Amino acid sequence: MNETILKAENLSKRFESGRHKVRALRGVNMEVKRGEFISIRGPSGSGKTTLLTMIGCLDTPTEGKLLLDGEDVSSLPESGLCDIRRRKIGFVFQTFNLLPYLSALENVELPMETMEPSPEKRRKKAMELLGSVGLRKRMSHRPNKLSAGEQQRVAIARALANDPSIILADEPTGNLDTRTKQGIMGLLSRLNAERGTTIIMVTHDPAVCNSTDRMLWLSDGRILKKERKGFNLIRKKLMCPRCHCDIRPEFDECPGCKARLEPAGGPDSQSRKIEGSAGKSDPRR
Ligand code: ADP
Ligand code: MG
Repeated sequence: MNETILKAENLSKRFESGRHKVRALRGVNMEVKRGEFISIRGPSGSGKTTLLTMIGCLDTPTEGKLLLDGEDVSSLPESGLCDIRRRKIGFVFQTFNLLPYLSALENVELPMETMEPSPEKRRKKAMELLGSVGLRKRMSHRPNKLSAGEQQRVAIARALANDPSIILADEPTGNLDTRTKQGIMGLLSRLNAERGTTIIMVTHDPAVCNSTDRMLWLSDGRILKKERKGFNLIRKKLMCPRCHCDIRPEFDECPGCKARLEPAGGPDSQSRKIEGSAGKSDPRR
């Protein structure tokens, strides 16, 4: 996990409306490795959404450089930004932003229209994605027939539609109760661990930060030197039951003690057993 997927150098953003000037970002420097799950925390108005907007190519910085997947996106014209958004970015918002007159399935199919010419392939993929977020039986429902947690799951499936390099989530659990929030965090952690999708998530919630790999603290448009290692919910649980070293979901052999591991038991499997052993996997972590 050493490849840099995102690098921001001295990123600044000024908004001007009439005589009013706001310096929303004041020289942000940050680097994210492929496959990381990062959270960004900070007080209201500290520039979190603005930073996500720059990273997501929805707007360009006033100054500074932004490299995304090796490409300098800081001064691209709108057509170039639009292309990057379509190919590389998946967005998840606090208010889900699903289209109310489309079913869950149609909402997930929609972003694929410009990328995948075959309607059959679009449908198949949307069905797979909704299955992977636990909504196989709710595909034909419109958003108003789904709970808040289910709507956010649809939004996450939609964000994955074009196999983005990065998922950007702005307060994705902000409108959810505690239990639903935990479910959504579990899902994001699993997608990050199993698919290797890089996730950058803005949140107010310290508990939510604790289940990511790393937290950045934004204050007054700057990142304070307060990076803290959290832990990824799912990575924490994927471990060798014999020597307790961390294993990645795709491994079928422990990199530490070389024990053969049984294949993961479906999408919700959060632990692994040694091949042929009858015992349960170690619950200590
Ligand atoms: P956060 O997401 O941390 O609450 P924002 O990034 O939304 O903060 O906003 C940072 C600052 O930039 C705030 O002072 C906000 O009012 C200002 N701001 C954000 N977007 C705009 C805009 N489009 N025009 C003018 N000011 C803006
Ligand atoms: Mg915000």
